[in-house]
Amino acid sequence: MDYYDIAETWSRDEIEAVQAQRLRDTVRRAAGTPLYARRLAEAGLTPETIRSPEDIRRLPFTSKDDLRANYPQGLACVPRSEFVRMHCSSGTTGSPVAICYTKKDLDAWAALMARSMYATGIRREDVFQNMSGYGLFTGGLGIHYGAERLGCLTIPAGAGNTRRQIKLIRDFQVTALHILPSYALHVAAQLREEGEDPRSLPLRIALVGAEPYTEETRRRIEDMLDLKVYNSFGMSEMNGPGVGIECEAQSGLHIWEDAYLLEIVDPQTGASLPDGEVGELVMTTLTREGMPLLRYRTRDLTRILPGPCACGRRHRRIDRILGRSDDMFILRGVNIYPMQIEQVLMSFPEVGENYLIRLEDEGELERLRVLVEIRESSFVEDMRVLRQLQESIARRLRDEILVSPRVDLVQKGSLPRGEGKAQRVQDARSATMVPEVARGATMAPEVARSAALVPEGARSAALVPEGARGAAMAPEGTRSAAIPPEGDTA
Ligand code: AMP
Ligand code: ZN
Repeated sequence: MDYYDIAETWSRDEIEAVQAQRLRDTVRRAAGTPLYARRLAEAGLTPETIRSPEDIRRLPFTSKDDLRANYPQGLACVPRSEFVRMHCSSGTTGSPVAICYTKKDLDAWAALMARSMYATGIRREDVFQNMSGYGLFTGGLGIHYGAERLGCLTIPAGAGNTRRQIKLIRDFQVTALHILPSYALHVAAQLREEGEDPRSLPLRIALVGAEPYTEETRRRIEDMLDLKVYNSFGMSEMNGPGVGIECEAQSGLHIWEDAYLLEIVDPQTGASLPDGEVGELVMTTLTREGMPLLRYRTRDLTRILPGPCACGRRHRRIDRILGRSDDMFILRGVNIYPMQIEQVLMSFPEVGENYLIRLEDEGELERLRVLVEIRESSFVEDMRVLRQLQESIARRLRDEILVSPRVDLVQKGSLPRGEGKAQRVQDARSATMVPEVARGATMAPEVARSAALVPEGARSAALVPEGARGAAMAPEGTRSAAIPPEGDTA
């Protein structure tokens, strides 16, 4: 195995021995905060009684609410003067969650990130363009310092200004990228529009993460940009990116278990689940100095992939994130995850790079509406062909999610697209009908306002009129499809 850090070569026994030692140190430090001091006392635990990862299962979970309640620095266990940086988690709802880092924390984080990049095949000779936002979001500086640590020429391009991004790629002969999946699709579409053959670019590797995406989307990005996509996972609460990465085998994400303790629990009961079963990821920091977190409930849903990886690393792998427990929405009593919808949509070659899921009231009932951008080349097809496409998308969706959606085909570029993480779900149901769990999945109001829905008059036209693009959102109940379905699509 070609490795960056010796820890990648450790056997299970070696990993577990280091985990036990680091866990004890972590608990000792965490005990310096009022929250954890109280929780440890209540559980009858002391740092000395923690012998193995099983022992901390007696501790209650740390939740996002605990972090909010202790905002900004209530979970710090070193003096404020020891901290050198802070970042925020990118949640769109509720009060913020802040993470502070000591110099040692930043150093350890950069090393984990460099190790992650190396595992995908990136080397110091690569030219690396970071195409995610900088600032409070950890995908900027977190990835950046990892790339510099590895020794790559690192371009802090940030998100947006796609033309300039493409120019930088060309001018500096960029070979590796970090990019969000929704933005990658957009950049790829723009390249195609400009008639650029991706094979003429030296790109070879993209780290893609920060939001859920499907295997279909991975393949699409790989085809359109002619490179290999490696899933990159992390969250601010666990530093940021560099928590988990796909190795060159591209079969699940190794979690760096010398730095993080990994559990999968039943999201309802909190009970521990065996390898292979889907549940909520729970993580404990093992090397963080300034702000350790014990048994943090990430809300991310995944499973541990059983068995060793072909690459030889013994750090266990998780499946790609299937969604977040707070992304799930309930419609007509059925639990649905946005990724189930994306999986179906991205398997249609006619479907473009953007879509929007809208939950609406329809009389006493609730309706699922899926607005789908279709490719320019498909949009010029005659109505019959488009109608068939619409019906087959609706049919495949119904088979997948067991609810009949209304599918609207819309012109490329007509759905809102921000520069950060994509907001895929817009909940326009009256408040009384919105179950608690679905609230987190609603779209930010500023995004909702910019959504360009097609007015009534456009119903019979195959093409959405140019002028309708910037139009304010159609009033509730407006039939607003470029290609309206026949009745409520079955
Ligand atoms: P942030 O608050 O910006 O640190 O976002 C962290 C969250 O982004 C995680 O808890 C996941 O929900 C999501 N995320 C990060 N990386 C991935 C990935 N590779 N696949 C799916 N979701 C991801
Ligand atoms: Zn591997």
